[in-house]
Amino acid sequence: MQAYQHILLATDFSEHATLVADRAKDLATRYQAKLSVLHVVDNLPITDSTYGPIIPFDIDITEQLISASKERLAQIGERLGIPEDRRWVEVGSPKAEIVRVAELEQVDLIVVGSHSRKGLGILLGSTASSVILHAKCDVLAVRLLE
Ligand code: AMP
Repeated sequence: MQAYQHILLATDFSEHATLVADRAKDLATRYQAKLSVLHVVDNLPITDSTYGPIIPFDIDITEQLISASKERLAQIGERLGIPEDRRWVEVGSPKAEIVRVAELEQVDLIVVGSHSRKGLGILLGSTASSVILHAKCDVLAVRLLE
């Protein structure tokens, strides 16, 4: 069995993210693997034609979210020793982007949390289950109890 060479930590910055990050770091150390980190800025629609505009059309918060994400990734990267060029921000659907980036970057293990705050009480959240289903590499879903 070949050792993991490139591990991808998918982080949602939730309160559980530190636990998931520490597990990814521990595995990277044990396997002497490269560690990269990814956050996906969810491109949820900010308007809904049924209810009318929720946020005025001229406000585009994506750029602010990207820049805030980069700052958070810098903190995580510093703590875990992940170099700047392996701290990635993408915009889109988290489940699809995690799988896409993992393939593109030839990752052999993806580390996600079993669920986020939104998924409290659910055994496996929708992001984790979709990544497990679609990824071409191994996926570790770190069990989060609450
Ligand atoms: P969920 O299925 O949304 O409860 O999230 C489960 C796990 O998927 C989280 O603990 C993260 O590891 C990962 N994840 C969820 N959303 C994102 C995101 N926007 N960017 C990167 N990873 C995410």
